[in-house]
Amino acid sequence: MSVPLRPDLVELSGYHSPQVDVEVRLNTNEAPLGPPDSWTREMQAAIAGGDLNRYPDRSATELRSGLARLHGVEPEQIFCANGSNEVIQSLLLAYGGPGRRALVFEPTYTMHRHIAMITSTDVVTGRRDEGFEIDLPEARSLIEEFSPEITFLCSPNNPTGISETTEIVKAVVAQTSGLVVLDEAYGEFASRNNIELRKSLADAERLVVLRTFSKKWAMAGCRLGYLVGDAEVVRGCELVALPYHLSSLTQMAGLVALRHEPEMLERSQMIVGERNKLARALEDLPVDTWPSDANFLLLRPRWASAHQVWEELLKESILVRDCSTWPGLSGCLRVTVGTVQENERFIAALSASARR
Ligand SMILES: *Cc1c(COP(=O)(O)O)cnc(C)c1O
Repeated sequence: MSVPLRPDLVELSGYHSPQVDVEVRLNTNEAPLGPPDSWTREMQAAIAGGDLNRYPDRSATELRSGLARLHGVEPEQIFCANGSNEVIQSLLLAYGGPGRRALVFEPTYTMHRHIAMITSTDVVTGRRDEGFEIDLPEARSLIEEFSPEITFLCSPNNPTGISETTEIVKAVVAQTSGLVVLDEAYGEFASRNNIELRKSLADAERLVVLRTFSKKWAMAGCRLGYLVGDAEVVRGCELVALPYHLSSLTQMAGLVALRHEPEMLERSQMIVGERNKLARALEDLPVDTWPSDANFLLLRPRWASAHQVWEELLKESILVRDCSTWPGLSGCLRVTVGTVQENERFIAALSASARR
């Protein structure tokens, strides 16, 4: 090609979770089953009456009202986009960019760093301790030294499964004069809800909470995520969003899902039960593991390298995530909670590998 790539992009390796064709896919934290049949039927009816010759409602009025009701906030506090990844991009376009800084605490969700780099936002890296908690004095001194425009938190944190403590969230919000973007993609599997916490904060305008339809709602293929934050932050995101970025189909998918919330809730409770079962099964195996508040578990096998175990599982047609090259995660694998049968197959294959 005659035009060279933007120099700051050359080193970006891209985001690739290897998608191998297997029987048991436990590598990307998706829901193991699709949305309920009643959702599909209502969706078909919605498409039939959907005026798809027209551009979508640019401000997604109905969907935002529905989400506002769900969380007990105002529609003006909600911004919807194509997955929470696009919400992150919008926040970085509006509040990051050249000469500005985003603070992340590794190990955490790779996309915070990755999208910051794409938007030419400088990344400041803090480290979590061995238990994957953020060290408050370190967080305070990084905020003081670098004054980041955006600080990313993740609760429960991907890929460790651990929730950020209320103490950390409150202290970081109180310390920074920038935005705190708290990614709650797995919030529905956790015991703590930071949208509720936000309501009690005196400095709530700095806290932005992200949610997605990709996990609990079993709709990763629909690409829908949103933020709950200050109305001014919502307006900032609207400035940088492409016109009509959120298709009518996506808006319908979200609206129909909101009418099926109780069924979805039941399913996420099933996942939590399965996660706890999986955690107990791991206790009997020679692995290090960490308490998870999400729909996945992080583990470190003690009998072989993570990559070796990853390959042995793959031979049994089970795909998990090899995180062993990520910062602070040497030797670690991440496994998504699947159906009862999938989890049993995983434990059987892992036990067999440990015995070899
Ligand atoms: C899966 C995940 C998301 C979801 O991103 P979408 O773009 O909404 O699919 C966001 N944040 C974290 C931490 C995740 O693990």
